[in-house]
Amino acid sequence: MLKLSHVTKYYDKLKAVDDLSFEVKDGEIFGLLGLNGAGKTTTFRMIIGLLEPTEGEITLNGEKIDYHLTDSIGFLTEERSLLTKYTVEEQILYYGILKGMEKNEILKELDYWLNRFHIKEYKNRKIKELSKGNQQKIQFISAIIHHPKLLILDEPFTGLDPINVELFMDVIREFKKSGSSIIFSSHRMEHVEMFCEKLVILVKGKSVLEGELKEIKKNYRRKNIHIVGDVDLKKIENLKGVLEIQKNADECIVKLESDEFIDSVFEVVKKGKEITKFEVEDPSLHEIFLNKVGEVYEK
Ligand code: ATP
Repeated sequence: MLKLSHVTKYYDKLKAVDDLSFEVKDGEIFGLLGLNGAGKTTTFRMIIGLLEPTEGEITLNGEKIDYHLTDSIGFLTEERSLLTKYTVEEQILYYGILKGMEKNEILKELDYWLNRFHIKEYKNRKIKELSKGNQQKIQFISAIIHHPKLLILDEPFTGLDPINVELFMDVIREFKKSGSSIIFSSHRMEHVEMFCEKLVILVKGKSVLEGELKEIKKNYRRKNIHIVGDVDLKKIENLKGVLEIQKNADECIVKLESDEFIDSVFEVVKKGKEITKFEVEDPSLHEIFLNKVGEVYEK
């Protein structure tokens, strides 16, 4: 289990991470979310021991993280850091040996992953000759080749097409199943929603929302009602608790301050014509994120 306790990081006078605490248990996928500059990369760098926290403590299975634990950690960095003049095989051998693996074992694993990512023809090609998406696959393979117990993924899906996002997600889910702790950052909330159970939202280095995704959604008071049919939207707009009405091509979405206002919307919709849909849904993580981050900036 990865544990951060009251971690703070200053760069000179700038507080990049502010009293951050969370845990990622074995077999858990944890999302670290925030706008640009929120402190995600700084947090990752402290976790892998590249930076020392100014205050607080970070442990992996109860031990302070230093060089003796780095073999059990895999890290996909945000700024792609491949040795572009090397071939794919040379690159992966370099990383594997750094992680204490035997050459034979590395080559066996490499064949498996190149096959899995449909790029086995690139094994002896130079990294710089590969497309961006394929370079990212190589970087991902470098992070997982040694089957780390803790896998840290800084923006793993950037630049990937939807098929490759799925491919990466499948592999990440397998690592989860085998008991690894996974922590990742992403700006794309739909990716977070697809497979992460716990998360923290950072604003200027500070946690503004954290916990289980399911609970966060359940406890979030706002609700959205999706309606298809001919209804008096003017009347709904003037009801108490209605924040906004969004009209899409095939439906309209009434955004409510809380679920206590659902009945009054229903009363109006009942009087409409050809109603084929009236569905109350929790807001998306994207909406919750924008709202939470917005609240802090409005203060
Ligand atoms: P992004 O999503 O853009 O990658 P981030 O959430 O990863 O952002 P960080 O890179 O951790 O954010 O940056 C947090 C803050 O610390 C920012 O204000 C940034 O300018 C500052 N910062 C980051 N690295 C350094 C550094 N080496 N020296 C000084 N300030 C830094």
